Amino acid sequence: MNSSNPIHRILIVGGGAAGLELATSLGKKLGKPGIAEIILLDASHTHIWKPLLHEVAAGTLDASEELEYLAQAHRNYFRFRLGKMEGLNRAAKEIYVSPTYNDAGEELIPQRTFSYDTLVMSVGSVSNTFNIEGVAQHCMFIDTIAEAFKFQKSLVEAYIKTHAIQKCNGQVKQDTFLDLFLMELTLKL
Ligand SMILES: Cc1cc2nc3c(=O)[nH]c(=O)nc-3n(C[C@H](O)[C@H](O)[C@H](O)COP(=O)(O)OP(=O)(O)OC[C@H]3O[C@@H](n4cnc5c(N)ncnc54)[C@H](O)[C@@H]3O)c2cc1C
Repeated sequence: MNSSNPIHRILIVGGGAAGLELATSLGKKLGKPGIAEIILLDASHTHIWKPLLHEVAAGTLDASEELEYLAQAHRNYFRFRLGKMEGLNRAAKEIYVSPTYNDAGEELIPQRTFSYDTLVMSVGSVSNTFNIEGVAQHCMFIDTIAEAFKFQKSLVEAYIKTHAIQKCNGQVKQDTFLDLFLMELTLKL
């Protein structure tokens, strides 16, 4: 709280299982009656419950399970801001957020500074390689939905590569199992 902003500002960094639940709950309790301003910052604009990522990787779940932070914020009286936190000044009660770019590399949002009265850090964790040689280079991790989709694509490509063609009397023939697999994929999409 300060003279220019009389409402207490609660800034939550990371909208995962913990941060999203907290923002939703505080939004309803403190945001709705105007007791506090709740801001959720996340590096992504959507959330997916991480224990579902293996289903995305296996191809049995698509992006429809993702929750739009903006929609959740609107329904639950908190604000959502897109961006990745890159620095913190506890004395000044400020965090620094990197610029956000689109897939083409265009800058969508410039670098920003957010002030807060209360800061909640809920940035989660990522897989640990334990410095085992080769793990970082050769393992596929499933910490984010982008990584899960990447795994799924590699899986399908590996399957296609292995089963797509078989030589039959000098002629290239598509495998029946692949026909069924591709048909199932088409029906699903
Ligand atoms: C594949 C998989 C399966 C799992 N299965 C289970 C299970 O069956 N049961 C179970 O209990 N647990 C399971 N877990 C663990 C569980 O998902 C985590 O314990 C839980 O998600 C942790 O919640 P969190 O809010 O701390 O972090 P997360 O859910 O990881 O959320 C962190 C959020 O912070 C954001 N973020 C990170 N850095 C920044 C930054 N610098 N700036 C802005 N935003 C940032 C991320 O985008 C993310 O949205 C699983 C995890 C994975 C990966």
